[in-house]
Amino acid sequence: MKLVFLGPPGVGKGTQAKLYSEQQKIAHISTGEMLRAAVQAGSSLGKRVQSTIDSGQLVSDELIIEVIQERVRQQDCSGGYILDGFPRTIKQAEALKRLLETSGAALDAVVLFDLPEKVILERLAKRRSTEARADDSEQVQLDRQRVYREQTAPLVDYYRKTGLLKTVDASGSIEQVAEKLDAAL
Ligand code: AMP
Repeated sequence: MKLVFLGPPGVGKGTQAKLYSEQQKIAHISTGEMLRAAVQAGSSLGKRVQSTIDSGQLVSDELIIEVIQERVRQQDCSGGYILDGFPRTIKQAEALKRLLETSGAALDAVVLFDLPEKVILERLAKRRSTEARADDSEQVQLDRQRVYREQTAPLVDYYRKTGLLKTVDASGSIEQVAEKLDAAL
């Protein structure tokens, strides 16, 4: 099973991706986590992306596509995976399509986690007080929402046209959203 989890920053898709991947015994690929790990490790990739991540902008399509190409080739992805935070632009979605086609594979579904921006910003304000992420200042969070609206939201129509899109209402508790996700898939 190959899934894409789509939705604005702070909607809770990372939490759901973690739970669902454990339940299905498939890999959870979070590009944000991979990049943050690279920054932590002080690798050359980390050094290249740090200021971009901190500002809430997107790293280049070329770079992230390379990261994904390498990641999905790894052994733990052979049984399937959830892509969490990739693709984020139409260009990335097209690269993913080509990547899958070369191995005769295809996506099974794209899940859109849906929640009004006002609710997301309230959730993020709470998270800001408990988690210390450098990209979590209020201004950066607003910038990240705008980047989503401008660069990532067009993917909703893109995937709707392919017939792969499933929408999950992301309001409620983690357990409630997990149940809605189960029902959708
Ligand atoms: P996330 O944890 O998914 O919100 O990602 C954190 C940051 O990593 C983003 O704000 C971007 O700077 C970068 N990033 C993660 N995934 C991508 C992607 N697919 N394309 C471009 N930048 C990304």
